Amino acid sequence: ARQAPADRKRVLQVMTNLLSNAAKFSPEGSTVLVTATLGGEYVRIGVHDNGPGIPENFRNRIFGRFAQADMSHTREKGGTGLGLAICKRLVELMEGDLGFDDRQGGGSTFWFELPAQP
Ligand code: ADP
Repeated sequence: ARQAPADRKRVLQVMTNLLSNAAKFSPEGSTVLVTATLGGEYVRIGVHDNGPGIPENFRNRIFGRFAQADMSHTREKGGTGLGLAICKRLVELMEGDLGFDDRQGGGSTFWFELPAQP
């Protein structure tokens, strides 16, 4: 049987990035929720925030390198626009997937799925 190449350091790097984005783009004092779901063949981690969500015209670029929805984010919020491009690549190296959804009631959910160890 194939072993899923999940790697503690890579998972931590992805989590750090998603949590830091969630905190960075959330209004002050709001709560970031982290969920973990065990499916039959995968584990799914969700990071749910109350931020502004992802603008329609940015969705197809969000995983590109140096991509930021608002160029003023570089100044106001910091960052390089590299984090999500790296996260996506790391998760794919572990044979998983990473994406985002609108959160019901506002905000975003960033999630990733990794193959569950048999
Ligand atoms: P950085 O955070 O360094 O700008 P990322 O690749 O992590 O780079 O994110 C790219 C862009 O995607 C951000 O600049 C922001 O415009 C948008 N983004 C990422 N995460 C969120 C989030 N949780 N809520 C709203 N926008 C986000």
